[in-house]
Amino acid sequence: MAATAQTSNPASIFDDHNPPATEVYKKCVHCGFCLPTCPTYQLWGEEMDSPRGRIYLMKLGAEGKVSLSDTYAKHFDRCLGCMACMTACPSGVKYDRLIEATRAQLERRRRRSPAEVLHRQSIFKLLPYPKRLRAALWPAWAYQASGLRALARRSGLLKLLPSKLRSMEALLPQIRLRELSADLPELIAAQGAVRKRVGLVTGCVQRVLFSGVNAATARVLAAEGCEVIIPREQGCCGALSVHAGEEERALEFARKLIDAFERVDVETIVINAAGCGSTLKEYGYLLRNDPQYAARAKAFAAKCRDISEVLAGLEPRATRHPLPLRVAYHDSCHIQHAQGVCTQPRQVLKTIPKLELLEVPDAAICCGSAGIYNLVQPEAAAQLGDMKVKNCLSTGADVVVTSNPGCMVQLSSGLQRAGKSVPVLHMIELVDAAIQGIPAEKLQASA
Ligand code: SF4
Ligand code: SF4
Repeated sequence: MAATAQTSNPASIFDDHNPPATEVYKKCVHCGFCLPTCPTYQLWGEEMDSPRGRIYLMKLGAEGKVSLSDTYAKHFDRCLGCMACMTACPSGVKYDRLIEATRAQLERRRRRSPAEVLHRQSIFKLLPYPKRLRAALWPAWAYQASGLRALARRSGLLKLLPSKLRSMEALLPQIRLRELSADLPELIAAQGAVRKRVGLVTGCVQRVLFSGVNAATARVLAAEGCEVIIPREQGCCGALSVHAGEEERALEFARKLIDAFERVDVETIVINAAGCGSTLKEYGYLLRNDPQYAARAKAFAAKCRDISEVLAGLEPRATRHPLPLRVAYHDSCHIQHAQGVCTQPRQVLKTIPKLELLEVPDAAICCGSAGIYNLVQPEAAAQLGDMKVKNCLSTGADVVVTSNPGCMVQLSSGLQRAGKSVPVLHMIELVDAAIQGIPAEKLQASA
């Protein structure tokens, strides 16, 4: 349907299938309050790389006053989709709706270079598919475990790689065999009296690269009296695709995930990856035009909660052992801006005795991870990553903590560039460690 969408306004560069909505972009009063919080405006100081400029470009596109050139599309490619502009906007402009609609239009209607198509397709054919990703990571594990990576880095050989491959290599986290092959059972019983029956979304990249985070999430939920159901047939939630304008693919993933969770009877659906959570909570909107799924998507979305929201709503039952650590909490954009969840992760971390929670300066600014942004816009992403790492280190933290796998990869890579061995952990890993009685030194040694 979308691929053959008609254009009733021949002047417009957009077709009739979900163009950026006039009534949404007209709410922008051009005040510019969003500019200081926009990472790309901070980097380049260009109006067209600011939220206000991009909204103006959408309007010009809809009115047919510009053509769909590479220069036009570049300003949207450069947007991180971090949604910091939405938090800053006093007029309530729903920039998330605008950028998703615009990106989907551009992906349908523009021609990318063959090299770009190949690069993007390889990302979309790999990352959302855990089996393929696992298979692809075995050689990467061998590359790391054999010492070849260290050798390649020392010798400067990596400089010979094309820039995109070089950045992918730099982003590759430490692969642990036990994580690569780990799988959770379908049911994890609650400890003590059952307080809730929850479903756990295991994600695609998260499941393969950070299966330890999923295991920690399930353990903490069980320790807090939740019966945890983990549907086997679940796949990617579609977040990576939605954020990149791959609309049809995203819809397909969303439908399958709804099917998988409808087969189990849970009152809450728990997510521990901020980027996924923001998309899952928007399923009702995403599938609004699908008569078979619209109502089901709405019901699904209404059950979705970030793990921090679930734990903040439960009086802690499991004993937390002290963790004398200075912890810098990095709010990932998709939790703070897209979901508006800021107090709950802090509230949960504060249940750990002796943990000192530190605030990171310029917390509203994205770390540069942003879905596939650090793979397709590596230079800008690295600059933002370096800024974020500098701000995290300025707190004097022993550990950096966040709630999104993309941010974990991005921050670890930035810390490596800075030559610092500070571990980056998911918030739930700290809670789990406190419940399990894992000593602080062991966590620090995991860098
Ligand atoms: S989503 Fe982020 S990068 Fe894009 S315009 Fe808004 S603040 Fe700027
Ligand atoms: S803050 Fe909102 S209204 Fe003001 S320029 Fe930015 S998007 Fe427009």
